[in-house]
Parts: sequence; structure tokens; C-alpha cells
Amino acid sequence: MIYLDNAATTKMAPEVFQAMTPYFMEHFGNPGAVYSHGTEAKKAVAKARESVASLIGAKRDEIYFTSGGTEADNWALCAVAEAYGVKGKHVITTKIEHHAILNTCAYLEGRGCEVTYLNVDEHGMISLEELTRSIRPDTILVSVMTANNEVGTIQPIREIGAIARENGILFHTDAVQAFGQIPLDMRELGVDLLSASAHKLNGPKGVGCLYVREGVSLGAYLHGGAQERSHRAGTENVPGIVGFGAAADRAKNHLSEKVKKEIALRDHFLNKLTSEIPDCKLNGHPDKRLPGNLNITFLDVEAVSLLLRLDSLGVCASAGSACTSGSAKPSHVLTAMGLADSDARSTIRLTLSDENTMEEIDKAADLIRDSVMLLRKKKLEVMA
Ligand code: PLP
Repeated sequence: MIYLDNAATTKMAPEVFQAMTPYFMEHFGNPGAVYSHGTEAKKAVAKARESVASLIGAKRDEIYFTSGGTEADNWALCAVAEAYGVKGKHVITTKIEHHAILNTCAYLEGRGCEVTYLNVDEHGMISLEELTRSIRPDTILVSVMTANNEVGTIQPIREIGAIARENGILFHTDAVQAFGQIPLDMRELGVDLLSASAHKLNGPKGVGCLYVREGVSLGAYLHGGAQERSHRAGTENVPGIVGFGAAADRAKNHLSEKVKKEIALRDHFLNKLTSEIPDCKLNGHPDKRLPGNLNITFLDVEAVSLLLRLDSLGVCASAGSACTSGSAKPSHVLTAMGLADSDARSTIRLTLSDENTMEEIDKAADLIRDSVMLLRKKKLEVMA
């Protein structure tokens, strides 16, 4: 199998698995208990919080563990709407967010909030002028993703943070795709709230975090016990949190090496595909994009047929995001970037990791080329 769907999820790293293992059966105690068996778990959760914070230059107490990116996004948006509802009910986001943001915005609209959805250009980039123009006296939150999950475009986070701060508005970023993939420093970027998810950086599924900058006061997401400083009640997912910490340590230690390797693989892949396959086009920003992301339109080829064929040949890739792969609608991200529905339906996403090899990339490129040619030939035969 050649796995090229790392934006959907990543394979757990062996050192992450090893770090987690003792917390299932050996140190199974409740971190809230007073006996030493529980203290072991409590210490492990504290260590993981330190590791996750350290990856983004945050303080330990600014990290709140959640069940993943979706929960962190829901929490950030709903808690700001609730806490700042007296100041206003206007939220600014973009048309290309993940559905964890878009559907939470729709929920808030149903509860009296107004949401402005910023446009993006043909590269998937927002306009800072449009952002500035959209700010109103009742704006309470700007939520713009750090990097897009489909096309990999990286937004100007520092500049967005500065605009939000100048206007006294909170800034949330969904960094699920960027966390552990590119350097992020909370002190430099002026971010107030950030969502992340462990399974995108070789950690376990079902665990993530919300970073809340010190000084920002948000209400609790889950009510109950005193876990997560009374903000997210429920006995902690200790093995998951330990795995997230180990994945953050691993990402921190390998980040520059990983970025370099992924860029080399990606550029080689892109070169090979575009030089050997006529009528194909890269979507997203030419250079402000995630190191491992390629999003390519192959004209006159149904993405679903191409993906099924690639699957039968042992190549895992996707069209759009994993969460929308069952949907008949063309990608909202690609259509917001101006692609026609038919082109959006002819687009696939290839997301690499530093575990991929040049041989795999060459083989995948050959299989994609042959499949695209075959599907185009079949289409012509049907039309003849
Ligand atoms: N936000 C983005 C940008 C994502 O890509 C994803 C998952 O693909 C999520 C949020 C949801 O994260 P999780 O799967 O941890 O709930």
C-alpha cells in the first residue's frame, strides 16, 4: 500500500504507541485519585500538557485537552459567543473552513449570531482588506484556519492576529492541519485560541486540545468534575493524552527535517505528474502551502473513478476531505476558489508524510498517469 492521505489521518508512530501502552493496564489509575497509582497518571497528563504546549511556544496552563479538533472548534466558537454575547453577536470566518467550524457557525446563526464568511482568491487565500472591512462594532471573534485541509493553503496568521488585536477582537485559528507540520509560535502569532488534533501528527485518534491564551476567559465546555481546571469535565483519556504528548515531542524534534523531506517529495511528485499528464493543474497556493499537500485537477476524469482505481492498485488518496468524501456535492473549498463544479469533481488530494519514499512517489505517479489516461480513453469511447 502507498498511503497518500495523511491529511485524513496519520499512522501512529511506534514511540507514541510505546509511550501510551503502560497507561492502559499498568498505570490505569484515575488521575483524580489521591493514591500513588492515580498520581502516576496525573503526572503523565501534566507531562503531556507540557509537551503539547512546548510545540507551539505556549504555557502549560493554556492547553485544555479535548476529544479532538472538532470539539476544540465547537468549544472555541460557542464559548466566545456565550462569554462575549453582551458585546456583540458578529463572528467572521471564511468560506473554506472545515465543517467543524462551518456547522458550528450555522448553529450559532440559529441562536441569533451573525456570521460573515470571507471569500478566498484562486489560491485559497483570504484578503486582509476584506477582513478589515468586515469588522463591525459588534464583532467578537475572527476564526480563520491556519492551513486548509483540502488545498493546504497557509493563511497570513500573524497579520490576521494583528488586525484582530488592533480592533479588540478575539482570534481563533483551526490549526488541526498545521499543528506539528509547520512551525507555530503562539507568542509571535497573536493567536488567542487554537484547535489541534493528535491524529494528524502520528498520535492517537480521539484526542486534541484547545489552546486558550492566558487572560482570555472562556466558560466551561463540559460541566461536571474539576478536570481540565473545571473547563472540560470528565475523567481524562490518559493513554490518548500521553500519546498526544509523545507525538508533540516527536514532531518538535523532527519538524525541520520532516518539512524538508516532504517538500522534496512533493515537488518531485508534482513535477512528474504535471510533466507526464496533459491537462492537469495544481490547486492552492504555489508556495504558501503545507509541505505534504498536493491538490490536483485532472480534466475530464471523475475523481471518484480515479480514486477507486487507485485503491485497487494499492494507492490511498482522497477527493476533498475525509469528512465530506461521502458527499455528492463538489468541494466547498474548491468552488469558493472559483473552480467550476465539473473541475472540482475531477480533483484529488494527495497528502504525503516524511515516511513516504521517492520510490513510492515515482510508483504512485506512474499509476496515477496510467489511470488518468485509461479513464480519459474510456470516456472518449463511451462518447464515440
Ligand atoms: N479541522 C480541520 C481543518 C480538519 O482537517 C479536521 C479533520 O480532518 C478537523 C478540524 C476535525 O478534527 P478531528 O478529526 O480531530 O475532530
